[in-house]
Amino acid sequence: MSSDSADFLQSFYWESLPLRGARCRVDGIFARVIQGLEGPAELRQLIGEILVGLALISSTQKHFERLILQAQSQGSLQLLVAEMMAGGGMRAYARWRGAEENLDLAALPEALLALTVDMGMDRDRYQGLIQLRNTLTESLQAYFTESVQAPAYFRLLVDATSGIAGGYFLQRLPGVLTAEEWEIATGFFAVGSDQSLLQARPEQFLPEIFPSVGVRLRDAQGLHFQCSCSQERVERMLVALGEKEVEETLAAEGKVQVTCEYCQKVYLLDSTDVAALFAPGKSLH
Ligand SMILES: [Zn+2]
Repeated sequence: MSSDSADFLQSFYWESLPLRGARCRVDGIFARVIQGLEGPAELRQLIGEILVGLALISSTQKHFERLILQAQSQGSLQLLVAEMMAGGGMRAYARWRGAEENLDLAALPEALLALTVDMGMDRDRYQGLIQLRNTLTESLQAYFTESVQAPAYFRLLVDATSGIAGGYFLQRLPGVLTAEEWEIATGFFAVGSDQSLLQARPEQFLPEIFPSVGVRLRDAQGLHFQCSCSQERVERMLVALGEKEVEETLAAEGKVQVTCEYCQKVYLLDSTDVAALFAPGKSLH
């Protein structure tokens, strides 16, 4: 599998048009995330799509500590979630129930898509929420129309079989952009084949979209796999679970084992650790 050192996000904008965009490639992160993933092949496809979708969305957020994009339902797809930290670290995870091979997102009961922007400890945290559509692409586009009121176009280029995960994004900003101009720009990305878009060099093809308008390509930002799990977080989670339940697990299994759902790291606590966890005066922040 490829290393994740080549993963990146790069944004661009047109100088005299209210239009911006981004492209990304997250093959390395995708490979790492699906290593420990169980479930149907379509789940791997969706994990790739949500990683790409979130990477592209992050280009619209100036300041954040953590971005979380998640789809959830009361049906077979219980949870599909991707997270990005401020430094470009990403992780993702899916929880699946049942054995259905044909995944119809729109048919999932009570299916929602949510974007959470976490600005840091004592600052704002806000969330936009919409009904999930037939595909993740349609859902992301609907999110921007309904929740951000600035239409966006997504082209997710994901092939779980060959381990490819990349994509393009365009967003209309406030200002005068004609319907025709929007159509020209989105049409450009809609007609290209996956292969041609993955191999295209943006400095060559972006200026072709509006030849008379300058387009600026910003420096690419590196992205990498990163999990935020830690011994402290696991301990906090166990404390929240309660002494009775943790002691019962310890009594039944001789140890308490917690496996991180995102990175599969195993945390083990023995009776001494558990006793220390619930000792009077022990404070966890
Ligand atoms: Zn982890």
